[in-house]
Order: sequence, then C-alpha cells, then structure tokens
Amino acid sequence: MARLNDHYLKLAAGYLFPEIARRMDAFKKANPSADVIKLGIGDVVLPLASAVREAMHAAIDEMATAEGFRGYGPSEGYDFLREAIAEHDFASRGVRVDPSEIFVSDGSKCDSANIQEIFAPDATLAVSDPVYPVYVDTNVMAGRTGAPDESGRYAGIEYLPCTEESGFLPSLPTRPVDLVYLCSPNNPTGTVASKAELAKWVEWARANEAILLFDAAYERFITGDYPHSIFEIEGARECAIEFRSFSKTAGFTGIRCAYIVIPNELMGRDAKGNAVPVAKLWSRRTNTKFNGVPYPVQRGAEAIYSEEGRKEIQANVDYYMANAGLILSGLSKAGFKTFGGVDAPYVWLKTPDGMDSWQFFDALLSKANVVGTPGSGFGACGKGYFRLSAFGMRSKVEEAIDRITRTFG
Ligand SMILES: *Cc1c(COP(=O)(O)O)cnc(C)c1O
Repeated sequence: MARLNDHYLKLAAGYLFPEIARRMDAFKKANPSADVIKLGIGDVVLPLASAVREAMHAAIDEMATAEGFRGYGPSEGYDFLREAIAEHDFASRGVRVDPSEIFVSDGSKCDSANIQEIFAPDATLAVSDPVYPVYVDTNVMAGRTGAPDESGRYAGIEYLPCTEESGFLPSLPTRPVDLVYLCSPNNPTGTVASKAELAKWVEWARANEAILLFDAAYERFITGDYPHSIFEIEGARECAIEFRSFSKTAGFTGIRCAYIVIPNELMGRDAKGNAVPVAKLWSRRTNTKFNGVPYPVQRGAEAIYSEEGRKEIQANVDYYMANAGLILSGLSKAGFKTFGGVDAPYVWLKTPDGMDSWQFFDALLSKANVVGTPGSGFGACGKGYFRLSAFGMRSKVEEAIDRITRTFG
C-alpha cells in the first residue's frame, strides 16, 4: 500500500455539511411527508442575471467561429476582466489596484485554500473562532498543525475568540504570527469590521511583519458605512492579500469565478531573509497549476459591471438582504437574541434554553422542519450559537420564520 498523507487523518470529525445532510436525510426518511426548508448551506437561489446569460451566450457563439475561437487563455485571467474589476470594484471607491495585481480564479474557496502553499511549511497562523473551516483544514492538510483537542482546536494554530462581548470581532494575536485569516463581512457571524477595526489590524500586521489574508466574499452585502476592501486602509498594500468572489455577489456558485488581489508592494522573506514579492510566487503557482477560468465565464463576470448587470446584481443582493431583515425581525419577535444580518446575508443567533448548537439543530428540524447550521461546526466559540442564511426564495423564508415563531415564540 502506498503511504498516505497522515495530516489528512488529523482532520476532526469530517466536514460540517455532510453531517447536516446525514441528519436531514434521516429525518426525511422517517418523515417522508415533511416539507423541510433549508436555510443552512450558504448557497444562492436566484436565477442568473440576464446580462450574464447574454454575455455568456455571446462568448460561446464567438468561440464557435474560426476567428473567435480561443484555446488556453492567460492563467491570471483576461485583461478585459482584470481591468473591469480594477475600475469598478476598486477605483470607484478610491482604491488603487492595478489590473496586473488581480488574479482571476475559479473560486475563493480554492484561493483561500491554496494561498498557504506559497508560505513556509512552518509558517505560523491565527484564525478567528468561529471560522470558515477552509482556512483551518487546508493548513492541517499541509502539516502546519498538531492534532485537534476535544473542542476541535488544532495545536499550533492561534484561535482568536469572537464572542458576544467583543461584538464577534477577533482580538489581536498574543504573539507574532506569519498569517492571519480575516473575513469581513463575516461568515458565519454576519458581523462586519469597521474602518478603525481594520486599521488596528493593518497596524499590527505591519509592526509584526505578518500578512493579513482578507476574505471579502460578502462585501457586496454591506449596507452601512464600512470598508469593502482591506485596501481602503492606509498601509494595507504592504501587508494584505484580498479574496473576492462572484459566487454570492452574482449567483456564480455553480459557474465559478473569483479573484485574488496581491499588491506589488507585498513582500515575504526567503530562508536568507531577503525580501521577495509575494505576487511572484503566486504567479508562478498559478502558471504551473492552473490554466485559467473559461472564457465564457470571464465574459459573464465582466457583464456584472455593465449598467444593466450592476442593476440586476444589486436587485438580487437587495432581495437577499430583505430576507435577512425578515429573519431578524421574526426571530427577535420570537424572543431570540440575534446578531449580524444587516451587512451580511447571515443571521447568527443564540440558541434558546441553554441548548447546544446540535440540540437546537435537531429541535428546529423535528419541530419546525427548518434546517440551519450549528455554530459549533465553525469552532469552539460557536458553541451555543446557530447560523441562518438569507439565501432563500422569499416564500420559503417567510414560511420558515412563521414556523420558527410558532414553535419557539
Ligand atoms: C462562499 C464563500 C466564499 C466563496 O467561495 P467560492 O469558492 O468563490 O464559491 C469564500 N469565502 C467565504 C467565507 C464564503 O462563505
């Protein structure tokens, strides 16, 4: 037998979502007539914007002609998309990002999973708790941690507790680390970091020569006056990488397109202590392991920046945020303590009557036939909390909230 990567065997208790699916299937088998409403997995439901559909159709038609055919494209993405991103996502907010600093990819899950490869095997890291599991699991797979303890925390990672007292914002690490994963607006807590909060992180990162890995997959859902990009903060170009995705913004979870921004000024150090541009390694990795996002997909992504596309995308975002508002008001009427849901499509709630997250999951499923996500699946500090997603059709969300208020109110 061939030797396996033992680090994979350290991964605690599988992935959260298969366990949710297992419990849901068991419930459906036992209750075949139950109409289960899913507000669990963060996946979008609204149909593709017509601007995107038309652009993708046109790109396919173009490729079916001798003159318009395209084979392998540039691994980092076509210039038309990188330029549209630089202009509409950054310059429009007064942020300087050069198209050459943008790397188009097939998803932020992949980018946030792969980025750790270009850092040293013994690079140290800190994550929020609760956390998007991808940041942790990929570092476990790469061998940067020891085994997990009974709460699921891995030796060697610094966990930054996000508690009700701290407004679910992570505190600064207690020791210098190489990498800090930050996610704002946050999945799972639905909270968002202010400019002052992010400025504190940039200052810390620069003082400690750390790199901030900033996941802004939900920036489009911000309604208040908060930064949409870490690069809105002075000095962030020397200490941060940003992840953006078309998945939640534009309904691309099944189409797959995202990007990562690595500023030219961002440096890491080699074994001799020499400064090396981080983008140089990412570019090398991209060209070795990736052949780019399909041309019709990049044309579809470009179309969300057209006038028509912008309107359609905003309407979808507004629809989901109206769902979030309904969830928030329904839950508070029923006496739940809630967080988030204003600048992010997730509502984070405190489980009632001292139930733990999985007990509440089971109660919600069996009594209200609604599926959500147990907070404990995102980390030890998620214990006693629960996530509901605003990604649903309006009638389903209304029905789910109605059932929850009748059951628990
Ligand atoms: C959904 C999500 C993403 C986006 O993932 P894609 O691979 O682009 O679909 C990234 N980060 C977080 C925290 C997410 O919830």
